[in-house]
Amino acid sequence: MAWNKPLPLPTAISAPYWDGLKAHDLRIQQCDKGHWLFFPRTHCPSCGSRNLAWKSVSGHGKLYTFTIARIPTMPEFTDEMPQALAVVELEEGVHINTTIVGAEPEQLKIGMSLRAVFDDRPGSITLLRFTPQNSTHPSVIPAEGAAAANDAAAAPAAAVIEVPKRKISAKDLDAMKSLVSTEYSPWSNEFVVSQEVINDFAKLSGDDYWIHTDPEMAKAKSPFGTTIAHGALVQVLASQLRIPLDFEVTDFTNIVNYGSDRLRFPAPVPSGCKIRARSRVKAVEQVRSGTQVTMEINIHVVGQDDRPSVINDLVMLYM
Ligand SMILES: [Zn+2]
Repeated sequence: MAWNKPLPLPTAISAPYWDGLKAHDLRIQQCDKGHWLFFPRTHCPSCGSRNLAWKSVSGHGKLYTFTIARIPTMPEFTDEMPQALAVVELEEGVHINTTIVGAEPEQLKIGMSLRAVFDDRPGSITLLRFTPQNSTHPSVIPAEGAAAANDAAAAPAAAVIEVPKRKISAKDLDAMKSLVSTEYSPWSNEFVVSQEVINDFAKLSGDDYWIHTDPEMAKAKSPFGTTIAHGALVQVLASQLRIPLDFEVTDFTNIVNYGSDRLRFPAPVPSGCKIRARSRVKAVEQVRSGTQVTMEINIHVVGQDDRPSVINDLVMLYM
């Protein structure tokens, strides 16, 4: 799976820090008067010295402060929620912005001892994260760790909520009309829109525009900073999302998908995001050939409850 989250870009000044992380070695700068400093700079903020050297340190420190993010700051991070954003104070006294891994939010306490974790991202960068000192979390997360998202895609039905269903006869127009509601159903299971899924759709549809298929160019040129799924792809992925409805229409001999009254793609789905759907019955009417039901199906990026990525007013005909 392609890694489409924004990643740091080493500069001439910070490159030794990133090279160190790649070698699973935490290196920070020290001036010739013995002051430690972080982030990487050209001079010491304590004494102004420009005589700085890169030194390896243990990576031991304590939790200075933290916050638990439950709504992603960017859609690309939906798979990491809840995310423990933290400031760690190293033994050397410097503060590092990071995320805590291998701990439940409830376990985090200001001042607790932490150790470094090297998170190898696919490509060239290793990120620095921290975990509680006594955690069994490995100190290196291999780049293949991104495969976990594919596992989630392999078992999309796991999170489906089972609800008892009311049986409604398609021939009972009043009962059918009672289904019309402004309230949405509960959420469906989640599905990971991986770059592989997007590539497969690009191949099938012939729409292989770079904004969908070229993560490098998308990183440089796209307003989203990453590849995004085709709107039409997200629309058809509704078939992967089982929406828990509390009713079941019975008493018909045929059901026809008549098309859509309205189809909109109001928000992008960045590659690697999870999606889920909910729906409501928007309209029920008697037509000559049967009972026509308009289902509004909204597909969202997980965590973006306010802004659907697909709005589809699907018209079904029960005959
Ligand atoms: Zn100094």
